Amino acid sequence: MRTRFAPSPTGYLHIGGARTALYSWLHARKHGGRFVLRIEDTDLERSTAESVNAILEGMTWLGLEYDEGPFYQTDRFARYKEVIQQLMDKGLAYRCYCTREELDAMREEAMKRKEKPRYDGRCRMRNESREGVEPVIRFKNPTDGVVVVDDLIKGKVVFQNRELDDLIIARSDGTPTYNLTVVVDDWDMGITHVIRGDDHLNNTPRQINLLQALGAELPIYAHVPMILGEDGKRLSKRHGAVSVMQYREEGYLPEALLNYLVRLGWSCGDQEIFSIDEMIEKFDVSDVGGAASTFNPEKLLWLNQQYIIAAEPSVIAHHLSIHLGKLGIDPCDGPDIMDVVMAQKERAQTLVEMAQISEFIYRDFENYDEAAAKKHLRPVAQAPLEQMREALAAVEDWRPEVLHQLVKDVAEALDVKMGKVAQPLRVAVVGRAASPGIDVTLHLVGKDATLRRIDKALDFIRQRAAN
Ligand code: GLU
Repeated sequence: MRTRFAPSPTGYLHIGGARTALYSWLHARKHGGRFVLRIEDTDLERSTAESVNAILEGMTWLGLEYDEGPFYQTDRFARYKEVIQQLMDKGLAYRCYCTREELDAMREEAMKRKEKPRYDGRCRMRNESREGVEPVIRFKNPTDGVVVVDDLIKGKVVFQNRELDDLIIARSDGTPTYNLTVVVDDWDMGITHVIRGDDHLNNTPRQINLLQALGAELPIYAHVPMILGEDGKRLSKRHGAVSVMQYREEGYLPEALLNYLVRLGWSCGDQEIFSIDEMIEKFDVSDVGGAASTFNPEKLLWLNQQYIIAAEPSVIAHHLSIHLGKLGIDPCDGPDIMDVVMAQKERAQTLVEMAQISEFIYRDFENYDEAAAKKHLRPVAQAPLEQMREALAAVEDWRPEVLHQLVKDVAEALDVKMGKVAQPLRVAVVGRAASPGIDVTLHLVGKDATLRRIDKALDFIRQRAAN
């Protein structure tokens, strides 16, 4: 069993490609097969090294490790030439000297007859070359009969050979075309299962005919349906992030994205959350639905949150440090990052959000949230804040348990509910009305910053009273 992922490096690794890669990868892993990565970079104008890197980076981030490759088609031109020559030698391919004008006329006539424009094979017979025309090479497609694609996802799909014309396999400059390179590679690489997007379904009968002409064993095909945006149109940038790496930037966990992608078009009872091992165990490409699926960003966000809550805190700590770094924060200049993770992991849907809501732990904020300040930093809060400041200043053992007791004591002394002390204190220290428990919050912020920020809040209240 051998599967492959064969992206063309003309852009980033997108959601659809990642799902196809995942399905191929799972199929290989499930059956103890091998997963091959092949970079289809023969389109020299559109392929870029940058895009190759983006694809490799995306695969690595997702953890879709390949057993062989990456192979580059541009390294294999000699081999393609050899196969084209083989087809020529066997009389299964021929040079076509048709001029542009001739081809245009052929197309116009077909249109007039309301037929699909197709090459009529006239150069099969015409053997003489033409001055000034560099020929292309065409494959002699069978002229009758059918090609049946027994697709694992789509079921039996029947194509009439008379609908397929003689495919160009080499351009006039001698370079091979897409269908030829795919066929040679799938053959040489011993691919047993071709799992790819269903935008390639129409290429499949042509590829099967070529494989048969070469005497190659046919792979089994599985054409994965497209992913649509919520408006029913093909998923694109208009629908938000479509690049895998953008999800990393936005603070998603790779496991959450994989989990989301595996469920897109496939299900296993009501189960929503699958570990990688469970995916390998339960996924079967023939259970993928034949219809397009709709991408739902909210569901992905929800899954991401589930993964953040359930993940090993040290894993989250690793990701959080990266996102704090992006905010210009050195996580070493602060409390133990594991404490930050434990305090915040149920409070954020993405790691970016977790970094943002943790900023106050590392640096003083500029402004208070307006509504929070209006509600909580009022003259009535002055006495509780002053008492808290005094009590806190005397604390030597800055632990959550000690701090909790202190807030409780001050509230009791003032004969108010704990919230009347804790909320002004929270806004003073965090700048907002939401944060982890006040004891944990104070502990994370540390003593110096806590006292400094209470002083600032007291100034704010005094000024407000004076105005
Ligand atoms: N290179 C093709 C693409 O990126 C995929 C070809 C294939 O999977 O057969 O669309």
